[in-house]
Amino acid sequence: MLDRDNRYTGIIRPATSLKLLIHKEVKKKPLSSSVDWSNYATVKAELRKFYSTEQKGMCAYCRMDIEYDGKHDDLEHIIHKDHQYLWMLEPRNLVLSCKTCNTSKHTKYSLKAGYRLITAFPYDTNHYRILHPQLDPYENNIRTIDNYFVQAVSPKGFMTILICDLWRPHLAIKKAKLDKIDNHGVVKRAVHRMNDLSLPKWERKNLRKLIKDVIAKRPL
Ligand SMILES: [Zn+2]
Repeated sequence: MLDRDNRYTGIIRPATSLKLLIHKEVKKKPLSSSVDWSNYATVKAELRKFYSTEQKGMCAYCRMDIEYDGKHDDLEHIIHKDHQYLWMLEPRNLVLSCKTCNTSKHTKYSLKAGYRLITAFPYDTNHYRILHPQLDPYENNIRTIDNYFVQAVSPKGFMTILICDLWRPHLAIKKAKLDKIDNHGVVKRAVHRMNDLSLPKWERKNLRKLIKDVIAKRPL
């Protein structure tokens, strides 16, 4: 089994040089609700490099290695830029995420309902309803069970799993593949896991779906 959880704790401290670079870029091209995110290509390349090193190449949400294809944007706004354009280049508001997590999260709210209209960037992690990948330790919110299945260990972890669809069967299958475990092996583990009577209802439902999808050979 790959010891993935020890590779990246989730705590990131944006470098001062990066903040200066952003500051210069914003001076040249001021942020506005109509500014195109692709206008910041130079600074985005630097941000991508920085987060890739900090996150050890892993997605901030599912923790799988990111395969950057140069086309799809893997720089993710923790608070979506449509919700507050002023934080488009806020280093605390950016992480790298895989295309699947990014697509699933899309414009869903990361902040709790009472904090969605604030104008100062929220550094307090209690304002978030999902885990803040830079400020919250990952393992305090989400854990990996039986090597391939994610488990929420906090309400934030639960919400992150829901918003980023971390129960997707494809994720368990992908993790297992790295250990050279085939789909049959994953099903066996899922069945074994379902024997645990203390399993929450939603986790049981998800495991059942995974088993069904694999057996029916549905595209995962
Ligand atoms: Zn991901």
